[in-house]
Amino acid sequence: MDLLLFGPPGAGKGTQAKLLVEALGVPQISTGDMMRAERSSGSELGQRFDAYMSKGALVPDAMVLELMEKRLRQDDASEGAIFDGYPRTVEQAEALHGLLGKLGRRIDRVVSIEVSLDVILDRVTGRRVCLDCGQTYHVRYSPPPESGVCAACGGSRIVQRKDDVEDVVRNRYEEYKAKTEPVLAYYQPRGVVVAVDGTGSLEEVSARIMAAIEGAAKGA
Ligand code: AMP
Repeated sequence: MDLLLFGPPGAGKGTQAKLLVEALGVPQISTGDMMRAERSSGSELGQRFDAYMSKGALVPDAMVLELMEKRLRQDDASEGAIFDGYPRTVEQAEALHGLLGKLGRRIDRVVSIEVSLDVILDRVTGRRVCLDCGQTYHVRYSPPPESGVCAACGGSRIVQRKDDVEDVVRNRYEEYKAKTEPVLAYYQPRGVVVAVDGTGSLEEVSARIMAAIEGAAKGA
């Protein structure tokens, strides 16, 4: 199955994608995670990504396409994938359609996770992340241990991502409204879009997403 988790930054796409990996037996493909990994490696490509990411701007489509062409050729993605944070423009959606088409695949379901800007600002500016294992925390809802030591991996580098500060989050949201929301209109006529309420607990949202995917499996 090729599933697309769609929604504004802070909708919970990454967290929900991780929960689905085991249930669906296909990998999560997050362009944001891939770009952050490239940036942490200190490569020249990573520095080029950072010039956009640090401002909350989208990385140009051609660079994203190159990244995705390589990723979809890897064995673990041969049966499908959970795309999270991609495609973010109509051009990227068209490019993905071409890439999947060559493999005899298509996006089976687009789950659109709906949350308001207020909820996003609260979630994202409060988010903290472990640089060593990617575990996320929230200063109020799931605070990192007082010791500063990550409960998941024992690392001691729990930080606020530099694109999670309010000004940058607002820019990311503006980019989403202008360039990414139209992606939904691209998929709508294909009959694959289901909207789910993204507020509430992780488990509640996850159950709604599973119900939306089961609908796809039954051809609903
Ligand atoms: P994310 O973690 O998915 O919110 O992505 C963080 C940042 O990486 C975004 O604000 C963009 O600067 C960049 N980015 C991630 N995925 C894409 C994409 N598909 N197209 C363009 N830029 C992206």
